[in-house]
Amino acid sequence: MAAYTSPEHHPAFEEYCETIFELAEDGTTVIQARIAERLDVSRPAVSEMIKRLAESGLVEVLDSEIGLTEEGQVLAETMVRRHRLAERFLTDILGLSWAEAHHEAGKWEHVISPRVEAAIVDKLDDPTTCPHGNPIPGSGYIEPDLLPLADAPTNTDLIIRRIPEELEFTPGLLEFLEQASLLPGQHARVVACSPDGTLTVEVDGKPVGIGSFTANRILTTLSV
Ligand SMILES: [Zn+2]
Repeated sequence: MAAYTSPEHHPAFEEYCETIFELAEDGTTVIQARIAERLDVSRPAVSEMIKRLAESGLVEVLDSEIGLTEEGQVLAETMVRRHRLAERFLTDILGLSWAEAHHEAGKWEHVISPRVEAAIVDKLDDPTTCPHGNPIPGSGYIEPDLLPLADAPTNTDLIIRRIPEELEFTPGLLEFLEQASLLPGQHARVVACSPDGTLTVEVDGKPVGIGSFTANRILTTLSV
């Protein structure tokens, strides 16, 4: 991965590039409205910032769809990498909860230097995903074929693999999933599905109800 060397960009530029990267990663068409929702800012604020990002050569807009330029992509990957490494450090070394780690990492990502980044990688033995199972850019992680929980066959042993960024931004959801032990690496099985798409999932011998929005986004593999 190309290292991002210019320290010139405003944290807001970093935040926007990261958000565009993560929306695209979740398969969302990146338009201004999606960015406004994710960052919880007004549409005019997004519009103004996209103009500045385009002037700085970090994004391109085509038919109102927003994409990162090569430079924007490098900046975004650096931010996402530092965010996910920071999350790992905060959970694995400092013992913070999942939800706390996500929140704190949003601040850390802007101040981690290449030197500190390398030290974290060393300390954690070159991790490939964040604690929520999202790939760390530049780690060489090759993701297996993933199946949304909502599409998984019932009464089949599954392994939880990934809680996408979109769910990390859903208030209270990380805390809920952590309490229910619905964590990457955990075995689970869908035991019932109601007509409205709500699933009953058995984790650690305990049933937990998962709404369809979340069930469509949590990614699993079959345990075979
Ligand atoms: Zn994460």
